[in-house]
Amino acid sequence: MAVDSSLSSPLGPPACEKDAKALQFIEEISRNADSVQERVLAEILSRNCQTEYLRRFKLNGATDRDTFKSKLSVITYEDLQPEIQRIANGDRSAILSANPISEFLTSSGTSAGERKLMPTIKEELDRRQLLYSLLMPVMNLYVPGLDKGKGLYFLFVKSETRTPGGLLARPVLTSYYKSDHFKTRPYDPYNVYTSPNEAILCPDSFQSMYTQMLCGLQERQQVLRVGAVFASGLLRAIRFLQLNWQQLTLDIETGALNPKVIDPSIRECMAKFLKPNPELAEFVRQECSKDSWEGIITRIWPNTKYLDVIVTGAMAQYIPTLDYYSGGLPLACTMYASSECYFGLNLNPMCKPSEVSYTIMPNMAYFEFLPHEPNSASLTPDSPSKLVDLVDVEVGKEYELVITTYAGLCRYRVGDILRVTGFHNSAPQFHFVRRKNVLLSIDSDKTDEAELQKAVENASHLLREFNTSVVEYTSYADTATIPGHYVIYWELLVKDSANAPSDEVLKQCCLAMEESLNSVYRQGRVADNAIGPLEIRVVKSGTFEELMDYAISRGASINQYKVPRCVNFTPIMELLDSRVVSAYFSPALPHWTPERRR
Ligand code: AMP
Repeated sequence: MAVDSSLSSPLGPPACEKDAKALQFIEEISRNADSVQERVLAEILSRNCQTEYLRRFKLNGATDRDTFKSKLSVITYEDLQPEIQRIANGDRSAILSANPISEFLTSSGTSAGERKLMPTIKEELDRRQLLYSLLMPVMNLYVPGLDKGKGLYFLFVKSETRTPGGLLARPVLTSYYKSDHFKTRPYDPYNVYTSPNEAILCPDSFQSMYTQMLCGLQERQQVLRVGAVFASGLLRAIRFLQLNWQQLTLDIETGALNPKVIDPSIRECMAKFLKPNPELAEFVRQECSKDSWEGIITRIWPNTKYLDVIVTGAMAQYIPTLDYYSGGLPLACTMYASSECYFGLNLNPMCKPSEVSYTIMPNMAYFEFLPHEPNSASLTPDSPSKLVDLVDVEVGKEYELVITTYAGLCRYRVGDILRVTGFHNSAPQFHFVRRKNVLLSIDSDKTDEAELQKAVENASHLLREFNTSVVEYTSYADTATIPGHYVIYWELLVKDSANAPSDEVLKQCCLAMEESLNSVYRQGRVADNAIGPLEIRVVKSGTFEELMDYAISRGASINQYKVPRCVNFTPIMELLDSRVVSAYFSPALPHWTPERRR
């Protein structure tokens, strides 16, 4: 289709008129980033001026940046906890937002061990949808012909609960997939999925994954891109194929769906779709029964042009494994988003993972940036005046993201550290550096130092009766297996070797640690099969002293040396592993239910 030349874009020649409009939109708002930000703030402040929260700051109707910055404090989730709790308990007055809170989005970030509850309003769905609608137009600039096939995406809904006041609480993607925006999306030849909605929307993760994989295998020749939200999710799908290819190939051979898939809407939809195909079944069987799974993605889906998964931030640890299974296909990180707000997109999605930068879209929220001193321990925003506006950030500097949203978060610290890499027009582009205070992460779980410390303490109570204590510990996110798991290295002081803790006690210590970790971790273990059993590796006594000697030999100061509570530097791992005397795995699943503990 010829595209009207007046719609051409500086980003490149659009693939179709719809893309041209999307690219033009990106151009316009990135050129006018500052005025868009000014308008967004004025809209939010005028709309929410009568909310209980904003009235506290006595803005007296002002909607300008200077007044806003001089009067409002920079806050964290904990500061908002009382308001959030009141909304959760059913208070429908305009506390944070003039618009009714439509539901809570449950973040993978936790507070006191439970997922943070992010208030949202109905129209935020439109904003999220808008950001999604920009992704393919950008991708089409780099990868031609995506309208000639389909995307095999592993997408899932997760369990939802209701707050005491009756509001739904669920992850943002569950909310999106269950919305009409997604379910009744208009046909777009550039964005056709192999997975039927019935499979994506099935709450049972086995049935959902099974059906999505089966559909992907059936349409293997049409698949042009393979993806999941995060890298860990795609690897879980590969692992699922390793465990289930025999049954899957049987279904393909006979055209009869695995009886374990009982969801009626899936069965009805697959009855139309699944036809006996012995030739395909034989092909898949042969590929899957080979000893090596190297390059399995391109062997089974030979027309795949790229993998669409986030591999920035904590997910970077999965890049080598993805390369192994895909034979080094390009990895596209397309967007940067959170439960609080969707932030922006990668305008150069086929770049190397290490070069990914996200351009923040100035229409999504009002953005401010708290300069981050990489070496300073404290980030307390004593002087909020230090906060910088979107267009004023400086290339090379690091900042913590602070947002003001339409749903009523005001000057809210997201907890992400970003580094400015450049600008697209006047909209800055950011490298995702890391999330603050995250020590360990396998999937969407995020464990901080305090949580790990508490888990070690709780588990070590079991050692008391054996007159044994944990003298030092560190940890490691082991992603060599799928799913990955936490490894905790323990150096023990056993005072009475005749009464040393048994293997069974140390296994129970693994479980006790898991019980103590936050609910996102436990959900990953129990419901999503996204995290494997926690492992304790007991090291010889004196190992942590050796670790210190090693650090000092590499230039660490003897006075300031602190045991690292998480390690991933190969020589250190090798040192620790060479001193392991015994290893134990958690023998059972920790407790987890969708209901919150508090
Ligand atoms: P959640 O609140 O559970 O939706 O998680 C949102 C968080 O996930 C963000 O604040 C980031 O820390 C992380 N995240 C989201 N998108 C990306 C990305 N593209 N790259 C790295 N981290 C991301």
